[in-house]
Amino acid sequence: MLKFIRDPERIKRWMNLRVMLIKNLIPLDYPLIINVEPTNACNLKCVMCPRRFSNRKIGYMEMETFEKIINDIKEFGIVFRLFLQKDGEPLLHPELESMIRMAKAKRVAKMVSVITNGVLLSPKRARELIRSGIDDISISLDAAKETTYRQLKSSGSLEEVEENVRGLLNLRKELGRSKPIIRVRMVDLRENCGEREAFFKKWESVADFVEVIPFHTWKGAIEDLSPDGIPVCERYPCSLLWYTAVINWDGSLSPCCIDYDGAGIFGSINDRTLYQHWNGHNMEGLRHAHIAGCLEEVPFCRNCEYWRIKEDIGGWLKKKYASRINKGFNSP
Ligand code: SF4
Repeated sequence: MLKFIRDPERIKRWMNLRVMLIKNLIPLDYPLIINVEPTNACNLKCVMCPRRFSNRKIGYMEMETFEKIINDIKEFGIVFRLFLQKDGEPLLHPELESMIRMAKAKRVAKMVSVITNGVLLSPKRARELIRSGIDDISISLDAAKETTYRQLKSSGSLEEVEENVRGLLNLRKELGRSKPIIRVRMVDLRENCGEREAFFKKWESVADFVEVIPFHTWKGAIEDLSPDGIPVCERYPCSLLWYTAVINWDGSLSPCCIDYDGAGIFGSINDRTLYQHWNGHNMEGLRHAHIAGCLEEVPFCRNCEYWRIKEDIGGWLKKKYASRINKGFNSP
């Protein structure tokens, strides 16, 4: 079973490998990773989450919409990873396991993943999730101490969520399964950075992966809560536009998962196929603006720092596409 990689050199090697693979695959005439939002409802109010600033209507994806997405992907083939999560808590969707089963049965993704806060991960739900065939579950704990957890999440109990994670791990063992891969994660914040070590110690011999995720401000919606400030660097094109697609609970499409308020919504899965959207003028226009470096034309991306967390292949992208600035980026 895979274990946590703590050594920065190994992380660097892994990142280099990832960059190499992405460069090898681009241009993609279909996304590599797709985020589908089962719901944007949530049962917590985390300080690092921008949901409180969003006016998006709260809703739950209809199975009909989900099926359309799956059929669209199927028509093309297979994606690397299908994330069933965006702005909300996916376990609030009563048919989440049916969605996973459908995605697995139709073999549309090498990996079907869920990111959850773990509050609803009861023994019954854990069993249902494992039986659904889910490949990968990340649980956002964000603290090693109860007091910090409450401070960050406004409600809920770390002790109970930790118990849920241990229950999931034990159940996987009891059922003799190697899947799902189980990850625990924390967003790196001023409030919890003193607990990083304790978090690693608590989970490194228990979970498959322990992850510390860099903080970003969600396009400036939230004040900088990072321990040392977000590093400044010269802007490079955002690689996400070349390999990820995002579909909201109502079937609308966003350019990336940072679109918490729907400001970037550009179409619906009910109007055109995913393939048409991916290769359509909206996504191509965004790619164009990033390559040309005219981000003043893209208010949506202007205040974002998320691109800094992702791999810097900007120079490579610019070189690759310099001659195509008026043609189209996604065609070989
Ligand atoms: S720059 Fe930010 S907002 Fe723009 S596509 Fe990339 S992640 Fe999304």
